[in-house]
Amino acid sequence: METDAVSALAGRAAELLSACRSTSTDPADRSAAATDRSGFVPASLPDGVVYAESVDDVVQAVRLAASHGVPLVPRGAGTGLAAASSAGAGEVVLDLSRMNRILDLDPVEQIAVVEPGVLNAELNAAAAGHGLFYAPDPASTAICSIGGNIATNAGGMRCAKYGVTRESVLGLRVVLADGRELRTGRRTIKGVTGYDLTALMIGSEGALGVVVEATLRLRPAPVTTATAAAFFPDVAAAAAAASAVIAARIQPSLLELVDGPTLEAIDLALGTDYRRRGGAFLLGQTDGFGAQAEMDVLAGAVEPFATEVLRADDPVAAEALLAARREAIPSLEKLGRVSIGDIGVPRGRLAEAVTGLQEISERTGVRIFTIAHAADGNLHPMIVVRPGESVTEGPAKTALGEMFHLAKRLGGTLTGEHGVGLLKRDWLRDELGDVSLDVQHAIRRALDPQAILNPGKAI
Ligand SMILES: Cc1cc2nc3c(=O)[nH]c(=O)nc-3n(C[C@H](O)[C@H](O)[C@H](O)COP(=O)(O)OP(=O)(O)OC[C@H]3O[C@@H](n4cnc5c(N)ncnc54)[C@H](O)[C@@H]3O)c2cc1C
Repeated sequence: METDAVSALAGRAAELLSACRSTSTDPADRSAAATDRSGFVPASLPDGVVYAESVDDVVQAVRLAASHGVPLVPRGAGTGLAAASSAGAGEVVLDLSRMNRILDLDPVEQIAVVEPGVLNAELNAAAAGHGLFYAPDPASTAICSIGGNIATNAGGMRCAKYGVTRESVLGLRVVLADGRELRTGRRTIKGVTGYDLTALMIGSEGALGVVVEATLRLRPAPVTTATAAAFFPDVAAAAAAASAVIAARIQPSLLELVDGPTLEAIDLALGTDYRRRGGAFLLGQTDGFGAQAEMDVLAGAVEPFATEVLRADDPVAAEALLAARREAIPSLEKLGRVSIGDIGVPRGRLAEAVTGLQEISERTGVRIFTIAHAADGNLHPMIVVRPGESVTEGPAKTALGEMFHLAKRLGGTLTGEHGVGLLKRDWLRDELGDVSLDVQHAIRRALDPQAILNPGKAI
């Protein structure tokens, strides 16, 4: 951008910021709002942050952004992994974390109405008091917001049985790029009047509107759960076991795979001996009235591939098995900067995907550790770089590109749950094709002709 254009934009951003109620231009606040947890390092800081406390605050900020031609970047809790809420010079961040009230929790209808800044775990804690739960459970549950979950169509471990965020959102209240309020969906479990604008908004990465309220579906907490874990000689055997579980026609509530290098990292962090016991680990859980019977089938499907199968029938033992999976990311973070990918492949091709990832690591010299939501075919290849190295440029970027090509070759996708953001745009056309991308651009232009909301991200 020309220098004159930059200073004109800065002037207009300053006017916007001075007209809003709660804002900051403090460098520390701008720096905190400049990126997310993807490892992306922005070249500049946003001009300021608007802290919305009400729907009116959002409407005002969006209207001012539209009238001043200033790009606005919606931000939840900033835990995203695709740089989708990153912002730079000439942009203003719209922080929604202060809109954090649970407005209604109806245990009879099993519905909650929440503001976007409510944390995923807070909603679950409130639902638990009524014997209910909110199914989407990103590993970041304690730190990510419902608004961000909706904007990324977030997933998690329980999605194996209960689906991603899309399956738990009934309706939305959204502020559009021109400041109008749009209500989508409904409070009923079923309803098909009109186009499904709720689905359109879910996963739109802050680019089609700002979510200011969500009506969410809660579910009865399972009466019982059964948990098992198994060790395997190598990751290909674990992936084959996961495919056998799917083929056994049962519905695990979670099925998580951890590869050998990740087990080693966990051992280093926790002092455990997982790697000695196997070259890969698979964790399965079933829930509901038939949990034990389903677990018998799951364990039976896994056994031919495994060197050791462990079953946990009480919550304490189950928690000990779950810990291995939960500690994967924190353990890797002790080794260096981590970039968490999320390619998806058809479930029967999991073994080819993990082998392909190992080959990419060997070819590029980039350290790749893999865990996977095996029941969804959703892999998390995690690139770990040493201090000073970039996770988004150089060899890491080459490895990232190769991962996407691997996913595509196997009939899969760039992103199973984290979104496109800034980091995956280079490979977007490859997956979507010209027609799909044109239609998506047309939708975006129709809703935001001035490109006010989160420009340069997602599609
Ligand atoms: C340790 C760790 C583990 C993780 N595990 C998982 C996992 O298991 N599954 C998973 O899916 N993700 C996971 N994530 C990624 C991240 O937590 C999710 O993408 C989450 O949904 C982001 O929520 P957020 O509130 O932090 O959103 P942000 O990072 O603030 O924003 C993400 C996107 O949402 C948009 N946005 C935010 N709020 C709104 C709003 N109200 N209206 C419109 N747009 C909005 C932003 O513009 C941006 O495009 C993990 C992250 C970390 C750090």
